[in-house]
Amino acid sequence: MNKSSPKDLQKVVEQSLQYAKSFENNGKVADYIPELANVDQDALGIAVVANNKKIYTAGDCQKLFTIQSIAKTISLILALQTAGKEKVFSKVWVEPTGDPFNSIVKLETKTHIPLNPMINAGAIAVVGVIDTQFPFASFLELTRKLCNRDDIYLSEKVYLSERISGNRNRAMAYLLKSEGVLEKDVEETVDIYFKMCSVEVNAIDLAYFGSVLANDGVNIFTGERIVEDWIVTIVKTLMVTCGMYDGSGEFAINVGIPAKSGVGGGILCAVEENFGICAYSPKLDDKGSSVWGLKAIEYLSKEMKLHFFAGSEINEYY
Ligand code: GLN
Repeated sequence: MNKSSPKDLQKVVEQSLQYAKSFENNGKVADYIPELANVDQDALGIAVVANNKKIYTAGDCQKLFTIQSIAKTISLILALQTAGKEKVFSKVWVEPTGDPFNSIVKLETKTHIPLNPMINAGAIAVVGVIDTQFPFASFLELTRKLCNRDDIYLSEKVYLSERISGNRNRAMAYLLKSEGVLEKDVEETVDIYFKMCSVEVNAIDLAYFGSVLANDGVNIFTGERIVEDWIVTIVKTLMVTCGMYDGSGEFAINVGIPAKSGVGGGILCAVEENFGICAYSPKLDDKGSSVWGLKAIEYLSKEMKLHFFAGSEINEYY
C-alpha cells in the first residue's frame, strides 16, 4: 500500500453501487407488514461517513425507509443507559440462535429468556426494561442524536400496519409475560416496539450512526460523546455475532464488519475508527437482509480491505 497516494473514496462508493446493480435482484420486499411493500423496489442508496469528516454517497441515499430491526441496537443502548447492564442481561442473553429473527421456538425449548437482543423476542424484552417515563420519546431523541438529524419521525402508516399485522410479536410478548421475563404491560410494550421499528431514516442518517459506533460513542463532527464506550463495545459485539440474524456467520466471513440489517432494507455498518456505512435497498433475501445492500457492502469491504481480520491497514482515502 502506498500511503502517499490516497484513493478516491467517492469513486469506490459509486463502484459499489454499480457492482450491486450488476446482480439480478431476485429478492422480495417484506410484505408481512403490508405497508412495507409500498416502496420503490429498485431503490439503492449507499452512504459512508468517514473519519476525515467527509460524507460519500451514491444513489438513493436520501430516500426514507423504516429503520425496522436496526432499531434494536438503539433500544439496547437506551436500556443499558437507563436500566444498567445487570438488569438488561437478566432479561436477555447474548448468544446467537441460528434461527430466523421472528422465531419463537427457543423460548419454549431452550430458555424463557430470549437468546439475544437482535431478534424480535429479545428486542421486546429489552424494550420492557427501558427505564424512562416515555420510552418511545427517549428512543426518538437518542435516534436523532445518533443520526445527527433533528427531523426524524415515525411513519404513521408503517406503525399502524405493524400494529395490525404484529400478532407473532404479541405472541412472544405474552409468552415472555407469562414467564415473568416481561414485567411491563404486554400491549404497551409491543406498541413501543412497533413505534421504534417504524421510525423513518435514510442511508446518510444510519451512516452517521455507524460513525458514532465506529468511534466508540463519539460524534466526530461535534466531539460530543453520545454513548458510553462500554455500551458501544457490547452493541458492536452483538452486531458481529447476531446482527444479520441467521446469516451472521456467513456475513462475518465474507464481509467482516459489525452490521445490523432490518426488513425495511437498511444495513448499518461500523468500521472501527474509520467509517460508518449504510446501504439501503428494499428487496430482501430469505433471511430478511437487503440483497443489493449486501452486495454493495461486500464490495466496499473487499475493495477497501475492511474485514476485521484483513491483516493490512485500511487504505487512505480522500
Ligand atoms: N418490525 C419487524 C418485526 O417485528 C422488524 C423485523 C426486522 O427488521 N427483521 O417483524
